[in-house]
Amino acid sequence: MMDVLRPFDPWKSPLCTCPPKYSLHPYTGCTHYCLYCYATSYVGRRPSRPKKEFLRRLRRDLMRADPSIPVDMSTSSDPYPPEEMVLGLTRAALEELHSRGFRVLLTTKGVGFVRDQGLFGALMVTITTLDGQLASKLEPFAPSPSSRLDALASVDMRKGVRVDPIIPWLTDDFGQLKELLREARDSGAEHVVFSTYKAKPDNFKRMVLSFPDLAERWRRLYYEEGIRIGGYRYMPARVRYPMLRKVVEEALKLGMTASTCREGFRDLLRAPSCDGTHLLPRPSGRATNAVL
Ligand code: SF4
Repeated sequence: MMDVLRPFDPWKSPLCTCPPKYSLHPYTGCTHYCLYCYATSYVGRRPSRPKKEFLRRLRRDLMRADPSIPVDMSTSSDPYPPEEMVLGLTRAALEELHSRGFRVLLTTKGVGFVRDQGLFGALMVTITTLDGQLASKLEPFAPSPSSRLDALASVDMRKGVRVDPIIPWLTDDFGQLKELLREARDSGAEHVVFSTYKAKPDNFKRMVLSFPDLAERWRRLYYEEGIRIGGYRYMPARVRYPMLRKVVEEALKLGMTASTCREGFRDLLRAPSCDGTHLLPRPSGRATNAVL
């Protein structure tokens, strides 16, 4: 039985197309406090706290883990909250994984990964908008979009961007998304993942409190016209599909691969993997679960 290094479970979503991977979270909670965060409905809304005895538990799991399976760090709490720059828990985990030949895909809204280059294999940075003011409302304690792009550009490795979530009437303007994609491509991104906002009771409450002018339109779109899939409210497919197809095509035009996340549109998977694991180097053969 694995403890902190677990086979990725996409909240039991029937629409997940991720290849097999482990997920690893050095922290519980997340100091970035994004309004739309899905994880809060499972773990509550609280700052990032290191998991108890995390490194000891990770070392024990690594003795049993399969080093040919990639590790995604992290899928439901950020591995680079502000606390990480003091505590260094993500870095210590990367060192453990690296020394045993595990391949790590980092997924983050932080910029601290710049410090840890060389310890992970590929990178996905989440950027939902280039509008710094809007981002500071949506993702109040995460680094600004421009600093995320600068950090992305500064690392020399295979990398991509998650445009997740796309929020109707807030971050779905096609002209602005095109600009975001151009900036991402110019910063070295070669893959983009798109996902629309999915409503859960707690994130929806935060969203309508912060954007009261959109409350009624969102309520109609998600709760009257939309559908329920795996515990989330989705916009209807007739709204999501054209929106996502347009941005996927735009990313392809710019020379990147593209995919969607948990949307149910298989034809929009235009990459070897949806989540960016294809950016990782192939297993080298030196992978081992014994300490080198
Ligand atoms: S960075 Fe991710 S885990 Fe953290 S609050 Fe934002 S959406 Fe939630």
